[in-house]
Amino acid sequence: MSTTPVSTGTLTTGVWSGPGRVNLIGEHTDYNDGFVFPFAIEYRTSVALAVRDDGRIRVSSSFDPEPVEVALADLAGLFPDRRDEVIEWARYPLGVAWALLEATGADVASVTGVDLTFTSDVPVGAGLSSSAAIESATAAALNDVWGLGLDRVALARAGRRAENEAVGAPTGIMDQMASLLGRADAGTFLDCRSLEAEVVDLGFAPAGLELLVIDTKVTHAHSTGGYGERRAACERGAAIMGVAALRDLSVDDLPRAQELMDDVTFRRVRHVVTEDQRVLDAVATLRSDGPRAIGPLLDASHVSMRDDFEISVPELDLAVETARAAGAIGARMTGGGFGGAAIALIDHELVGPATAAVEAAFVDAGFAAPHIFTVHPSEGARRDS
Ligand code: ADP
Ligand code: MG
Repeated sequence: MSTTPVSTGTLTTGVWSGPGRVNLIGEHTDYNDGFVFPFAIEYRTSVALAVRDDGRIRVSSSFDPEPVEVALADLAGLFPDRRDEVIEWARYPLGVAWALLEATGADVASVTGVDLTFTSDVPVGAGLSSSAAIESATAAALNDVWGLGLDRVALARAGRRAENEAVGAPTGIMDQMASLLGRADAGTFLDCRSLEAEVVDLGFAPAGLELLVIDTKVTHAHSTGGYGERRAACERGAAIMGVAALRDLSVDDLPRAQELMDDVTFRRVRHVVTEDQRVLDAVATLRSDGPRAIGPLLDASHVSMRDDFEISVPELDLAVETARAAGAIGARMTGGGFGGAAIALIDHELVGPATAAVEAAFVDAGFAAPHIFTVHPSEGARRDS
């Protein structure tokens, strides 16, 4: 591979984009074969695609002045074993191209070379999945231009494979599904075992509600170890209960689990089992009573992550408590934990006062200033022009 751009004088064929996402409820349930309920947001990564006639793929991004270029025929040799030869950000789009070719068995000689130029307004590392945004934009563009005919679930699988094997990040498929299946004003209720997804109306706007994101900007050094420890505890709990995954347990099984396990393993299990139930309850409650009724489920999700799964941090707890005190109808940390963002469901007219209250509370506590903004359920990856 080379990093020297070789322009063949191509024309832009089109522009596609993929959104970031926020997880409304369902945390650490995806790798337990359970349920999640994220939605795509209005922050997007766009890709301008130009075809080229030399069988090569070049990616460039506003993040990095240096483009990366490789022959399509060489992708199969690069991933996963020689991925370290590719600068990390470029592994996302090149990994998606590789995964799509692998998934379809397409002959590289039969697909056109491409230049992919990315721009994005998705905040990176804020728990809004800029990684899924770049993956879904790439997958949607190449699926169209290469005429692969893959459905959205297949594109999501390619995105996950890119992230797991080309980048080397052990993530589930929630982010890619949310980014590819999003609809305006709706969430994606996803069964992480069957990958069946349902679009569920959220009705925030008609109810006068906003979803506030409070990015604490905290990143904890032990998040990787903490994530691994939580995953291991979940596997241990499932093995003790004799089930394939914690998804196979219900809240009725918890008393027996408590008898069989040590306290820490039991509390990890209790979080996952009750969180799965909260996702199901949130979907049912939205349908029966509308978005104002889901507040207590968001609050309970936070308490469970704070006390049972033990993945919150003081900044997240303060964000949640202050937003609640400022009138939010529900609030919780979102994402993997040990830092990142909290979300709060709140009346439109309380956004300003709640933002000010959280900012003031962070000053009082001596914490770094958070970044606070609203997000709106938006359309998934699409062709824009
Ligand atoms: P996030 O929570 O934002 O998904 P990740 O660590 O999973 O955080 O993914 C962020 C990484 O994805 C970035 O460090 C970069 O490598 C890559 N990335 C995301 N968006 C872009 C972009 N527009 N251009 C280049 N790389 C990007
Ligand atoms: Mg990510």
